[in-house]
Amino acid sequence: MSVLDRFLLNGTVDAVEDLTRGARRIRVAGPSLRDLAWTPGQHIRLLVGDISAPSNWLRGLRDTLRTYSIWDYDAGGCLDLCIVDHPEPGPGARWSHSVHIGQRVSFTRPEGRLVLKDGAPFHLFVGEETASVAFGAMLRALPPAERAYAVLEFEGPEDRLPLPRHDELTWVYRDTATPEDDGPLLRALRSLDLPTEPGVAYIAGEARTCQVVRRHLTHERGWPRKATVVKPFWAPGRTGLD
Ligand SMILES: Cc1cc2nc3c(=O)[nH]c(=O)nc-3n(C[C@H](O)[C@H](O)[C@H](O)COP(=O)(O)OP(=O)(O)OC[C@H]3O[C@@H](n4cnc5c(N)ncnc54)[C@H](O)[C@@H]3O)c2cc1C
Repeated sequence: MSVLDRFLLNGTVDAVEDLTRGARRIRVAGPSLRDLAWTPGQHIRLLVGDISAPSNWLRGLRDTLRTYSIWDYDAGGCLDLCIVDHPEPGPGARWSHSVHIGQRVSFTRPEGRLVLKDGAPFHLFVGEETASVAFGAMLRALPPAERAYAVLEFEGPEDRLPLPRHDELTWVYRDTATPEDDGPLLRALRSLDLPTEPGVAYIAGEARTCQVVRRHLTHERGWPRKATVVKPFWAPGRTGLD
């Protein structure tokens, strides 16, 4: 066993499937993935480059690790990621296109605080396609009696990920954006008919949008800051955020 194997989980790619025209589900399986401590919404850090290459060390592992939410997990030893395309593919997006069945994959243990909060009067999910991967796992784990609202932004209707409670969620599309407004996501959130008392909001995706969404909830709707769980996933011009 190498030193890295002590810190990283290893598995083998078992399946690769297009969920939409720009989102791939990648299933990794293996004995070391059995009975992991995972809470829906949590992520792993995936090795998408050669960690042993000195050139990657010199670059501070900038091109070596990328963060991905766990789309689904089976304690029998199999874990699904869902990696979405974006306009400036870096090492992560390129990895998702080159990965093949039988390939060995290494990643860190699940971690993160973007998880369901107990006792919330209701749950609100706000974000775009990258955030919807974590939201999918969280929605699947939500007891049926708990109320959920969501505003989810995608490029177009054909890009929607298959999420539970599909018909209860508000879906918006970037192609309806106009230069004058704050974007379809914020427009839809402003007009969303929410209960008057605050719930808990899970806000993820592009960093600036996360800030604007939190500001809307706290300033315009009067929610306490602690009723919002915010996790920026990426920011324009920044690589491998997290
Ligand atoms: C906690 C967490 C969980 C995440 N979960 C997922 C997930 O489940 N699925 C998933 O697909 N992504 C997820 N992401 C985002 C993912 O890690 C980044 O999008 C990833 O860094 C992109 O890697 P890359 O190497 O392709 O591009 P990078 O080298 O990181 O970036 C290259 C350029 O592309 C831009 N860019 C990166 N992502 C996007 C985007 N989505 N849209 C537009 N421009 C972008 C960057 O700003 C940069 O300019 C998550 C991020 C975090 C922090």
